[in-house]
Amino acid sequence: MKKHNFSAGPAVLPASVLKEAAKGALNYQGSGLSLLEMSHRGAEFTAIIEEATALVHELLAIPPDSGYHVLWLTGGASTQFFMVPMNLLDTNQMAAYVDTGSWASKAIKEAKAFGRVEVIASSKEQNYTFIPKGWKVPKNARYLHLTSNNTIFGTQYQRFPKSTVPIVCDMSSDFLSRPVDVSPFGLIYAGAQKNLGPAGVTVVIMREDLLGQVNRHLPTMLDYRTFIKERSLYNTPPVFPIYVSMLTLRWLKKVGGPKAIHRRNKAKAKLLYDEIDANPLFVGTVVKEDRSLMNACFVMAPGYEALEKEFLQEAQAAGIVGLKGHRSVGGFRASMYNALPKRSVQVLVDLMRDFARRKG
Ligand SMILES: *Cc1c(COP(=O)(O)O)cnc(C)c1O
Repeated sequence: MKKHNFSAGPAVLPASVLKEAAKGALNYQGSGLSLLEMSHRGAEFTAIIEEATALVHELLAIPPDSGYHVLWLTGGASTQFFMVPMNLLDTNQMAAYVDTGSWASKAIKEAKAFGRVEVIASSKEQNYTFIPKGWKVPKNARYLHLTSNNTIFGTQYQRFPKSTVPIVCDMSSDFLSRPVDVSPFGLIYAGAQKNLGPAGVTVVIMREDLLGQVNRHLPTMLDYRTFIKERSLYNTPPVFPIYVSMLTLRWLKKVGGPKAIHRRNKAKAKLLYDEIDANPLFVGTVVKEDRSLMNACFVMAPGYEALEKEFLQEAQAAGIVGLKGHRSVGGFRASMYNALPKRSVQVLVDLMRDFARRKG
């Protein structure tokens, strides 16, 4: 039986996508070849990467001639932590960063090697339990770096702050989970394995006019211009992860796109957060207004801490996987990405309720 997959990443994918991907791994569209053994320069893969790129444009409503490029890279979001400042920030320039969690702080650490970094706000002192607000972006910043959803701590920007400088945003864990107006963003990046596809590919959406303004030497493979010019085909791209991502994008379009998936994601999150708030055995770990629709973090309520292990065991027995919280928060983390069915959340909520009846 298929498990209820609450893993933070690599994460749940739509069942129909997995089925189609499995077929492609054996015999791609009756060609007599697996997609895994096909040239990345052949007609089959060319069609796949072009469709994937067009779907990102379409689902985010990016006009084709708007100056934005959709790139398919490797190295994970973690490579973008340094590739962004390497390409956009000269040694004597400054970039503004908001520190909202472990991933944001890793991005900050990497950027410091390339230019000046101003951390203009941070919730680190409170173990990242909220998104700092009310800060100002210095006018001389080259860009403002944000992490839209903090996968480990379970906070998310419900609205993006206004910025006079281009925003660079790590959207790894909420990419295409809701409608986003891309116009304030100079660059968006997302590792695929949370909400888009399997591990191995990173999608970057960027404005070309931000490039060409740093004086350092850029290795070919770490220069965004290489990927713009060669349409992500300078070298061998991660063919199969791009294929599975394309299938997920098709699926997303079929279920109604970002607007429809956002409605679903809100309904799933409400179901779980309502239970966390009503159930005397569990408490949430972050301020309510910043709660993530993607990753819900919660712990046993004071006095019930000893039941944590038992609840995890019961969850496992109920077919729930990936519920254990990150070590820096403890407790539980329920990741509810686009492809997680509401039914899975219902199974978790029913178990929480039943557990409280028996143990409370
Ligand atoms: C998972 C994650 C990363 C790291 O992604 P990799 O692809 O493993 O490098 C970075 N940022 C956020 C917000 C994440 O959720």
